[in-house]
Amino acid sequence: MRVAVPLCCAGSRDRAWIELDMAALGHNVRALQSLLPPGCQLMPAVKANAYGHGAIPITQELLRLGIRWFCVASVAEGIELRRRAIPGQILILGYTHPDQFPLLRRYRLTQAVVDAAYARQLNAYGKKLKVHVKIDTGMRRLGERADHLEALRQIFRCENLVVEGTFTHFCADETTSPADAAFTAAQAQAFYDTVAALEAEGFSCGKKHLLASYGLINYPQYAEDMVRIGIALYGVLSSRDPDLHCPIRLQPVLALKCRVASVRDLHDGEAAGYGLEYVAQGPRRLAALAIGYADGLPRALSCGVGRVLIHGQPAPVVGRICMDQTLVDVTGIPEVQGGDVAVVIGKDEDLEISAYDLAEQSGTITNEILSRLGRRLERIVV
Ligand SMILES: *Cc1c(COP(=O)(O)O)cnc(C)c1O
Repeated sequence: MRVAVPLCCAGSRDRAWIELDMAALGHNVRALQSLLPPGCQLMPAVKANAYGHGAIPITQELLRLGIRWFCVASVAEGIELRRRAIPGQILILGYTHPDQFPLLRRYRLTQAVVDAAYARQLNAYGKKLKVHVKIDTGMRRLGERADHLEALRQIFRCENLVVEGTFTHFCADETTSPADAAFTAAQAQAFYDTVAALEAEGFSCGKKHLLASYGLINYPQYAEDMVRIGIALYGVLSSRDPDLHCPIRLQPVLALKCRVASVRDLHDGEAAGYGLEYVAQGPRRLAALAIGYADGLPRALSCGVGRVLIHGQPAPVVGRICMDQTLVDVTGIPEVQGGDVAVVIGKDEDLEISAYDLAEQSGTITNEILSRLGRRLERIVV
């Protein structure tokens, strides 16, 4: 029996949307798992709406693939998952305000301890809270300093903190240059020494984790109990690096597409878009696309920097990208008409535009391009 799908979740591809290739996600999970030592688990980072991909569809697919640990940035992100009935363990990597401590218990969330003063606040809440203790070994962002052993002891002595894990974060793991390798080895040593000292005193550190995506690729010897894997899961790394030795092939999970809203011809010398930035050199045909910077298309791609694919051919951005619309030059693609599909990230016949291309063209990394993709985009599983 066929059941009518309500319009709100019909995957209608009406304006601008994201297509999620779950086979690629499955491939990436298995490829990354092949790098783990026995007993080590992936703890996918599904923060920032799963790096823009959509936290709910991505997490649901990861559950089907057997994943049981997730990490997010904020209590609100953890609650979003629980409200959609996501089971398993959810670690909040970032700061949670004391006013929100009741939510940690109500939604069975595990909180990172960001320093000793914060541990005292968590403890003063007066009820048991599940935590992972973060140790700062060099990032100098979150975590109690590895050389503050007495402050760390105080964290572990907090009677209301149920310590289920201890972790650190590398900040120079994107390369294996001698300087980065030495810094990373020193971070790992500081972590192991501190954990050993605490365990020698009878404190239980729980599950240990040090690595994120680049760490797993460049320094898999530090995998321990869990690996917090973000960007690699989504099938790209932060930037293209010809020197990186990556032992696995990752497949991009996301494609970004939109509709052509309208096509029109310009006479020689006519301007288009805000600020009259673009002026037609000869007769040109422009298409208005139903996507803009509010959807996460970087405005830095304006004025010929970026391009999209339509009918398998490149169409450069002209003029300034608007909040909800973008103009492209389709003079060389005469068959384009309203309603056609433009590929912003992804493959179209023989050509492909990757998240790396957008990142390079706008002076950033793929993480930023992906995580800023707007809530307004539909997420469609293909
Ligand atoms: C986001 C984050 C990760 C995941 O990082 P990737 O480089 O995307 O794999 C891991 N650990 C911490 C603490 C993070 O904030």
